[in-house]
Amino acid sequence: MAVLGRILPRLESGEHALLGPGDDAALVAASDGRFVVTTDLLVHGPDFRLAWSTPFELGWKAAATNLTDVAAMGARPTALVVAIAAPPSTRVSTLEGIADGLREGLAELAPGAGVVGGDLSASSVLTIAVTAFGDLEGRAPVLRSGARVGDVIAHAGRRGAAARGLALLFAEATDAAGEPDAALAAALREREPDLVLAQLAPRPPVWAGIVAAASGATSMLDVSDGLARDGRRIAEASRVGFDFDSAALDAGGEDGRAEVAHADAAVERVRLALSGGEDHGMLATFPADGDIPAPFEVIGHVVEGPGRMLLDGRDIRAEGWDPYSGWDGRVG
Ligand SMILES: [Mg+2]
Repeated sequence: MAVLGRILPRLESGEHALLGPGDDAALVAASDGRFVVTTDLLVHGPDFRLAWSTPFELGWKAAATNLTDVAAMGARPTALVVAIAAPPSTRVSTLEGIADGLREGLAELAPGAGVVGGDLSASSVLTIAVTAFGDLEGRAPVLRSGARVGDVIAHAGRRGAAARGLALLFAEATDAAGEPDAALAAALREREPDLVLAQLAPRPPVWAGIVAAASGATSMLDVSDGLARDGRRIAEASRVGFDFDSAALDAGGEDGRAEVAHADAAVERVRLALSGGEDHGMLATFPADGDIPAPFEVIGHVVEGPGRMLLDGRDIRAEGWDPYSGWDGRVG
């Protein structure tokens, strides 16, 4: 296919590829004797809007969300395969932009990993399917089921920034009919570049997952749906409870204290940290007697009670607000 000839030269197959694109399949080194594999599907409409995202950002985010899933197992990402179905009217420059985003996202977030193959087809809806592979390098995989009572809960990455960016896009970059509007999105980018990019092209600390695994993390996942919902996933799988520390949630997350400046700012920041998804930071538990590796920040501890979620020792639902529902992601 002629288009492939324009896209493949924009991609790197990475240092783990023993054989890159061009044959019937690629060959990827797996030094560990095992490999981690995960896949993710991005569909125009439910998962992204071309009025908001550039093709470069689509490629970047497709890489980022798969890389964090690999890293959340404690594995080093090695290779991606990417399948794209696009409407026949799609410009080749759009596909080139996606390829550029994939390449640059890999280079920044998982140096050494590359794109070793893929496929192109036609569809009425632009769809990007990414499958990612990773190497545990001899480490045990870090599962969701390994947290123990007494462990420390720690997080690496941003907390709530992607959700704030999405809330801003919905509030300020949609037309009268509620549809995403490219001109309004461009204006919003000028005003709030950090939060918009946190949503459209997140820069999660992929490497932190590998550091956590090497430092003895007992459980881990990447935060796609907010600390409360994803914390519950670990808590239920591990049959333990999670007690978050509101002061710690308020203090860090790379987002500083000045972003939300109104009377209930602290409550709002904690609420955002607990409920805001798509930052793809690493949520992990560590033994209490060990070192917590940078860039992880301690945000709570593991308690008894399967699936129980607490904030400062009090049941989150009993506190009168429920981070899972009744809040639409908007701030202030
Ligand atoms: Mg995940």
